[in-house]
Amino acid sequence: MTSALHHVTAIAGPARRNLDFYTGTLGLRLVKKTVNFDDPGTYHFYFGNQAGAPGTILTFFPWEHAAPGRPGPGETFETAFRVPEGALGFWMQRFIEKGVRHETPVTRFGDKVLAFQDPDGTRLALTAVAGIDGEPAWSDGGVPEEHAIRGFSGVTLLLSDAAPTAAILTDVFGFTSVGREGTLERYRADGAAMGGVVDLRASGDFPRGRPGAGSVHHIAFRAAGDAEQERMVRRLAEHHGIHTTEQKDRNYFRSVYFREPGGVLFEIATDDPGFAVDEPAETLGQSLKLPRFLEAQRPHIEAVLPAVA
Ligand code: ZN
Repeated sequence: MTSALHHVTAIAGPARRNLDFYTGTLGLRLVKKTVNFDDPGTYHFYFGNQAGAPGTILTFFPWEHAAPGRPGPGETFETAFRVPEGALGFWMQRFIEKGVRHETPVTRFGDKVLAFQDPDGTRLALTAVAGIDGEPAWSDGGVPEEHAIRGFSGVTLLLSDAAPTAAILTDVFGFTSVGREGTLERYRADGAAMGGVVDLRASGDFPRGRPGAGSVHHIAFRAAGDAEQERMVRRLAEHHGIHTTEQKDRNYFRSVYFREPGGVLFEIATDDPGFAVDEPAETLGQSLKLPRFLEAQRPHIEAVLPAVA
């Protein structure tokens, strides 16, 4: 069984700024506007392609007064999206026009990569990928379809010791090592178009990070359904002595969580049921959706959430 990234969840500052950047500047679709089920006074935004397919979803917990995080070993250092091969020029120009902090494109494992940051300092990148022009993309967000983001390429994890994390990636999620470049070791999920790359970056003796705005909270790997998730959970316990949380119902997927040996919080999320489970696919993200157990508190929740539109 081979997995791939399902979603990435990060911490942001002000909700409105977060929403504007991801839908406006990056042109992603807001596929769900809900709250943090464990902290319902906080939004949980999900951005993705038109369907919010697994492998395209970047989610945020925005806190109006979040202090900035500081990167360090044991966390996700960069999240990279895929764009069509010829699109980087368009994006460079867009970042200049919109004042987005970005770097000069570099070549990584043969791909052109444009690193940039969101307004909270979240480290992101666009990877130019050949042959993906025909993949569906959300183009109602102001980015023409020919240049639009096509889900994740993958993530880079910063680790003081990469080996134990690599063992989980290969043994539990079916990734294979495909090469090394400088301090990066690349793992790939065979056959996964989106979210199939995890780079492990050796940090050396770097002080531990501090979570905050701009930090990734956790990354989630895909399981087709409960049976596959259960097989991964068993493998983690039997081969690695790692025990996950019990399964939590996240409405749009069902999840278990565990801290991998390098310190990064991992989740295993099911592909089903997806974001159209509680609103029509055509109008995803337009109204505040709450899980059934929070519906009775809706007036109070709506009163404390910051206005975003
Ligand atoms: Zn998650």
